[in-house]
Amino acid sequence: WIRISGKPIFDEENRFAGNHWIRISGKPIFDEENRFAGFRGVASNVTDIHVAEKRIAYLAYHDPLTGLTNRPSFTAAMERAFAKRLTEEAAVFYLDLDGFKQVNDQYGHAMGDKLLAEVARRLLAIIPAGNDVARLGGDEFAAIISSLERGPRMEALLGDVIEGISRPYLIAGAELRISVSIGVAMAERDLQGQADWLNRADLALYRAKEEGKAGYRFYEEAMDDIVQRQLRLERDLRQFAENGSLSVVFQPYVRASGRRTAGFEALARWDHPELGPVSPLEFIPIAERAGLIEEIGTQVLEQAVRAAASWPDHVRVAVNLSPQQIHRSDIAERVFDILERAGMDPRRLELEITETSFLTEDELVLDNLRKLKAEGISIALDDFGTGYSALSYLLRFPFDKLKIDKSFVMPALSGHAARDMLETIHNLAQALKINITAEGVENEGQAGLLEGMGCHFLQGYHFSRPITSDRIAAYLLREESSRLSDPERAAGAALTDASRGEASG
Ligand code: C2E
Ligand code: CA
Ligand code: CA
Repeated sequence: WIRISGKPIFDEENRFAGNHWIRISGKPIFDEENRFAGFRGVASNVTDIHVAEKRIAYLAYHDPLTGLTNRPSFTAAMERAFAKRLTEEAAVFYLDLDGFKQVNDQYGHAMGDKLLAEVARRLLAIIPAGNDVARLGGDEFAAIISSLERGPRMEALLGDVIEGISRPYLIAGAELRISVSIGVAMAERDLQGQADWLNRADLALYRAKEEGKAGYRFYEEAMDDIVQRQLRLERDLRQFAENGSLSVVFQPYVRASGRRTAGFEALARWDHPELGPVSPLEFIPIAERAGLIEEIGTQVLEQAVRAAASWPDHVRVAVNLSPQQIHRSDIAERVFDILERAGMDPRRLELEITETSFLTEDELVLDNLRKLKAEGISIALDDFGTGYSALSYLLRFPFDKLKIDKSFVMPALSGHAARDMLETIHNLAQALKINITAEGVENEGQAGLLEGMGCHFLQGYHFSRPITSDRIAAYLLREESSRLSDPERAAGAALTDASRGEASG
């Protein structure tokens, strides 16, 4: 028997404060004769965490604007459908709205958001229940259609979708017109996996767009040019990584109150001599698949630490680590070694990892993080809100920082659900005493709102785009001198030059 004693809790108006979630932990105790004498331990009220967890679990699987499945959970649904493809017909529709950008430009984002929500409602009405319908981002949607083979019925469904989405919209007194293009990929036997499947639908969509609006195309092998590009990038990347020809740029983040630069995040850059600049969003995943990320990651870390060694002591450097890097059993030693060679204090280094790092071997990952943290390195959880948002990691490891993904920051002023997400995260971070950074801050409206919500750090084009390391000293100097001459306005004004555009040289 365990006896729990407690008092009821009442709110300000003296009402019983309702159900509470209590976590109990205790150890058995024994008397002098070694007989069991009950338990002794602690009961703590974890209601806040429990409520936040449920809310985030919902938000983590759904697109905040439309309530449709979001990209990560759609990916998971495709994985499941892919596993069944030999016994069941299935197709992926990849949809992209035609003319959405014009509506956004002409009527503004708030109207664009309403339009997207209405498109979602129509899609749900047209696509038979039981099939996953998702918003993948921007004006891109997707659906998995199961139990339907390629033939007249599928073509009729595609026709219905195009017709339904293309009917005019009456929103806030305006009549809006858009249409939709669709790429379709069947779950064929030669598919390599979920990513390949979606990629095929994407290739088909690309062709549908090229051929004019309001149409659909099925995937064909000849559409593989993009795959060719990826293979080429992979081959070239191998060579460039070996030559050390990747570079690093630095984007500042500021303390929300006072807006003074607190550090810079290192971001990898690849300027391909023939193809031009290749985005890390394209080459980092290729490097991860091709087993090149450790080599590239080490170079980024070395360049970042070397640059930061000459910055003032209060300015830190943040470096992104891919899951493969944090899975290495010697990652901590490697990091210490790099710091030591540059003579940099570990407390000035911050490492950003994503939740995908925990999908496998999480004990190893936690161990590595503990070792790094023991030397004073800060650990940030990046892209929070986009992935699985399993809060258990937050309870199992004392992260120093949570970086809220820019997809929640950008619509923060318009979307209720995004605001809801931010508030929930904020409450949680308070309960767990973690610092919060909001990234992707593009204007003062967002900055003020996020500061008001209790974000500790802000980062985004509003403050500065990434800059090359040779410009950092001047950047900091300008910031300091404008603080001295006008402490009221402190930050913002110093950055006009640097934020003009990402430095290329
Ligand atoms: P991330 O870590 O979330 O980095 C933030 C990205 O958002 C950067 O893009 C940055 O330039 C961009 N960004 C910053 N402020 C704003 C803003 O106000 N608005 C908008 N629209 N974007 C903003 P970038 O440099 O293209 O990097 C993309 C992603 O590539 C990074 O996302 C990160 O996941 C990955 N990455 C970049 N460098 C490295 C690296 O050295 N190692 C690893 N593992 N991943 C890297
Ligand atoms: Ca990052
Ligand atoms: Ca991020």
